[in-house]
Amino acid sequence: MPTVNILGPCAAESEEQTMRIARRLATALSGRKFIFRAGIWKPRTAPETFQGVGDIGLQWLLRVRNELQIPVATEVSTPGQVSLALDAGIDYIWLGARTTANPILVQALADAVAAYADSENCRQVTLLVKNPVNEDADLWLGNLRRLSNAIDKSTHNIRLMAIHRGCNHRPCWEMAYRLRQKMPDIPLLLDPSHMSGNADKVPLLCSIANELAYDGLMIEIHDRPQEALSDAKQQIAPETVADILQSMTSATESPTDLTWLRRMMDEVDDDLWEMIAKRMKVSRQIGDYKRANDIEVIQPSRFDEILQRRLRWASGQNISADTVQAVMTALHEESIRVQK
Ligand code: PEP
Ligand code: MN
Repeated sequence: MPTVNILGPCAAESEEQTMRIARRLATALSGRKFIFRAGIWKPRTAPETFQGVGDIGLQWLLRVRNELQIPVATEVSTPGQVSLALDAGIDYIWLGARTTANPILVQALADAVAAYADSENCRQVTLLVKNPVNEDADLWLGNLRRLSNAIDKSTHNIRLMAIHRGCNHRPCWEMAYRLRQKMPDIPLLLDPSHMSGNADKVPLLCSIANELAYDGLMIEIHDRPQEALSDAKQQIAPETVADILQSMTSATESPTDLTWLRRMMDEVDDDLWEMIAKRMKVSRQIGDYKRANDIEVIQPSRFDEILQRRLRWASGQNISADTVQAVMTALHEESIRVQK
């Protein structure tokens, strides 16, 4: 059962909003332990959008920590932010998916962590490393080794954890499976909010995390999600997350390779059907063109050309000619249907 639960808004928007959400979470969770998250330096795609409140947000997080006795977490993207956050007293810092796409930057952050670890005021802190925005398990593993090397030099207890947040709103389960195999001792958290970008999909992803024995969850929580200044579509209410956590019981069996492989298979099927839908969209456009230009819908030579090309390719992939024929025929028939 996921036990390290990091909950809170995508971003701290004001001191009042930060305190309000933290209090509502504490009430909704009635005694269950959690870590409060809020981004203050936000890595946003467009410069015109909300970029986070900046350094002042550290004080708001510390207020949550001191008044409610809840550990607090924020994202860091530069060595300066690592020092500011750790020196201020933040308990958990995470490296986001855009940051972890750049190994030079991650090394600079690891160096800043090493400097903190060597300093006299080093406290117990936790570093969390998200998977990079691109599906690259080796880069994620490399980043974890960079930080683990930085921590190894310290005699202090700095913990390292990984956060699986997927890429382009796809889970990419294979990446997490690889991490589990190669670094079984690193606690692994799932971030269903960034993984899906969709509040409705959060409960199902949490139950998959439970089934796959993830050690924790990072979930974006807002009490007024529609009004959030960033990631409005994916944040859920404090009471909803309380229900999700309440409904989670210890999985009866630990996940086997088959459990992981089935999740990976479901994801391939999702991709496959998305691609079929995409193919039919193009097909509809071709239908419009043919109609406008008085061209026959059925062009046997074109189908034969596509089929032969696929048969040649499939022979090197250990896919039988019968399967290629059956799948291509089904796709072609559906295309003809949508073009008519
Ligand atoms: C976040 O956690 O708010 C965030 C920006 O996440 P990610 O790096 O996964 O996009
Ligand atoms: Mn976010």
